[in-house]
Parts: sequence; structure tokens; C-alpha cells
Amino acid sequence: MRQLPIFLELSGKATVVVGGGVAAARRVEHLIKAGARVTTFAPALSDDFRELLDAPTFRHEARNPEPADFEDCALCFVAVEDERLAAEVWAAAKGAGVLINVADRPQFCDFIMPSIVDREPLVIAISTGGASPILGRMLKARLESLIPAAYGRLAQLTGGFRGAVAEAIASPTMRRRFWETALEGSIAERALAGDDRGAAAELARAVERAAENAEAPRGEVYLVGAGPGDPDLLTFRALRLMQKADVVLYDRLTNSDVINLVRREAERVYVGKQPEDHELPQGEISALLVKLAKEGKRVLRLKGGDPFMFGRGGEEIEALAAEGIPFQVCPGITAAIGAAAYAGIPLTHRDHAQACVFVTGHGKDSKIDLDWPALLQPRQTVAIYMGLRNIEALTHEFIARGAAPDLPAAIIDNATRPNQRVVVGTLATLSAKARAAELSGPSIIVVGTVVTLRDTLDWRSDAEPRSAVENGRLAAASGKD
Ligand code: SAH
Repeated sequence: MRQLPIFLELSGKATVVVGGGVAAARRVEHLIKAGARVTTFAPALSDDFRELLDAPTFRHEARNPEPADFEDCALCFVAVEDERLAAEVWAAAKGAGVLINVADRPQFCDFIMPSIVDREPLVIAISTGGASPILGRMLKARLESLIPAAYGRLAQLTGGFRGAVAEAIASPTMRRRFWETALEGSIAERALAGDDRGAAAELARAVERAAENAEAPRGEVYLVGAGPGDPDLLTFRALRLMQKADVVLYDRLTNSDVINLVRREAERVYVGKQPEDHELPQGEISALLVKLAKEGKRVLRLKGGDPFMFGRGGEEIEALAAEGIPFQVCPGITAAIGAAAYAGIPLTHRDHAQACVFVTGHGKDSKIDLDWPALLQPRQTVAIYMGLRNIEALTHEFIARGAAPDLPAAIIDNATRPNQRVVVGTLATLSAKARAAELSGPSIIVVGTVVTLRDTLDWRSDAEPRSAVENGRLAAASGKD
């Protein structure tokens, strides 16, 4: 974070704005709304000040500020064209230890003005840390359309009940749940529909009910597929459950970009699983899920990809079912599906494959126990999970069992993530190429003629969309198969 976002208490405090144009007027408007007293220094004020002139907290001085004007001043905004004046004001404000913002001159800014979505008392401030004010404004526009004006009223309504709820419900966890229910259900619906009185009455009844039966909260477990890594591939439901969790259990396969979307206050437990020690922690993870849920927590078990695809998600929740602990399962995009899309390799295609099988290439001591006749069917794609370590043995075995050595095959490493790499070859060449590329994993191996489609369907090697012809040319130039 380049700057720390905070909301400043300015009510009753003295502030200074230098400038008489539209930018200065906007600053004055915000300051007055925040309850500050504002002295504006400018030879003349533009029309934009019209509505501000009558505010009792507004004062105009038709001169430049002097150092004495910054005594007891909490904040200063400068919005003038005159560079010299800006520098003088800056020096005077700094001399008095006042936080200052000079419009369009970042080097003279102690703080920046965010883009603001104002749903008083709900306020959203957006900053791109100076990287892209336009993007900030676009996001503001999106949020403006997404968050109805009525949210301000909803915030107001709930604000009035905070004390009563705190008194009625002692447990912070229960209190949070109370508010979640209130803000997701019919109380919020009423408030958003403009029925403030109805909403308030319903809220009052809910507080009464909560005070009567303040029993311990009931724990539950959410087994959620987090997809292969790109946070954009999460489902809405996954995101919703991630926002509800009290505690999250995650492992090596969950990307940090995804973890960062879990409710910030949720406790994070790393139950790291390495490929070689799968067996051991599994029972412990299940036991931990049971223990946490019994403590009344909402437990999020985040799994890479889809929880039921080679993820042992089933095993993890069997213990919950046995204990009668409520749980729900949320599917995710499994690695092979994500890898296929982001590598431009359709797993099925009318001209190439009518079927696709998903298998694990994980084997003890390089012994791979697969149903080879089933894998070697014609017009079929094979997607192999956990195969990178055994790639040499795997590709050998394919050929030894009768597959053509020149059958196309690819490895998609870190699929859908910023560091995605794709190695394309044939059964005969893939393992040497993989070794040369020093892939880190996790990787998906795809075997089948669909791999050739990548020549025309790879859409991701550059930020700019390119034509198929250019794609081919660039691929040739970069030495890609
Ligand atoms: N439940 C997961 C799979 C867990 S098994 C899913 O549905 O995707 C772990 C294997 O998944 C890894 O060995 C690797 O083969 C694959 N994998 C997971 N994430 C991946 C990624 N981002 N890119 C490529 N392969 C991935």
C-alpha cells in the first residue's frame, strides 16, 4: 500500500483552502460536509462557490494566506494555477505542521483525495495510489451504479440500533451473525425499498428475539473450490462463503490472491500439504474441521480447483457427516479446465476428441497404476493431474503401451496464474522439454491431438489480442512449438 487509507475527524476543526475555482469549490464542499470550518483564500470566487457562501462554517478572505493563518489549522488544500503561490503556501503550511494537499502536484501532497462514493453515513473512498486516477474514477462510477442510494438509509437505520444490539447480544460472533442476517434479509429489503419505519420495527423485534434466546452459535463447514489460481475464476457463492467465514483452512494449492479475498478478520490456518505427505495430515485436517465447527465457528475449507476432483474433499467431510455437523460444498473450476482455457487447448473438439479423461499421475516410487487400455482410446484427450514428477515414466509408458511417439502433448504449469507457462511437445519430447524448462508445478499434462489447436487458439501470450496469423508468426519467432 502506498498510502494508508483513513477517515479523518474534522468536525469543528479549522481548515484552509487556497483557490477560487471549481477544484477549490469541490474541496470546500467536502470539508463543509465533514463538519469542518473552512477559510478560503482567493482574490475572487467562481460561480461554483454559489451554494457554499451561506454556510455558517464558510469564510472567504480575498488575499493570500500568511503563516499566521495556519495556526490551529487541521488540514490545507491548495488548488491554484500559480506555481509560486502553491510553493509558498506549501512552505507556510509545512512550517506550521499542517497536512497539505496541492492539486495536481503529488510532490507537494501529504495525502491524496480519493474518489468518493457518498451514501452518507456510508462512504467509500477509492485510491489507486496515484497510479491511475482514471481507473479510480471508473470504479467509482461502477460502485455508484451498484450501490443504491438507499444504502445510506440502511446504514443510518442500523447505526441507531448498534447500542441496543450490543446490549442484547454479548458474544461478538453472535452479534456479527445478527447483523449479517439483518443486512441480508427482509429488514434490509424493507429499508432499501424505502419502508424505513417497517424496517426499524422489524429490527427492534429481531433484537428482542435475539436477547431472549442468546444460545451458542452453531458451527458449520463450507468446503469451497477456489479454482486454479486466478481469483476472477471464483464463483459468486465461493466469494460469499469466503466473506462469512470465522476461520479458513487452506493449503499450498490456494493462491495468495484468493486467500486475500477471505473475510479479513477470519483466522487463517495453513494446513500445507506437500505431494509426498498426502496421507498423514488428512485425518488431522478432518479432525480440525470437526473441532472448529464444534466451537461454533463457520469454517471455510478452501481447496485448489474443485474440492471433489483429486482433492480428497469427500474424505474431509465424511467426518463431518459422521458427527452431524452441517456443511455445504461449493464447486470450483478444476485445474484441467482452467489450464485448457488459459492455454487455448479445448479438451474436446469435433475433429480431434469426443471424450476427455481426468487421471492422476501420482504414483508411489514412479510406479503408475493406470488403466492404460482405457487411456489409449482413439479420439480422446487425457488430462493428467499430479504428473509432473513422473512425467518421464508417464510418457514412456504411453509409448510402451502403443501410443504414437509423435502424439501431441502439453504441460500447463501454474495455469491461470500470472506465472503460467505452457510447454508443448510430443510424447517423445515432452519430458526433456519439461526438464529444460525447469517448471515449478503445479502442472497439468494434456495428451492428445487437441494440443495442436493451441497454435491458433492461444489467446493469452500477450496482453493485446492478436490475429491467428500473427500468433503463428510470433510463436515461430519465439521458438514455441
Ligand atoms: N482439486 C484440484 C486438484 C488437486 S490435486 C483441482 O480440482 O484442480 C493437485 C494437482 O492439481 C496438481 O498436482 C496439479 O496437477 C493440479 N493443479 C492444481 N492447480 C493447478 C494449476 N494452477 N495449474 C496447473 N495444475 C494445477
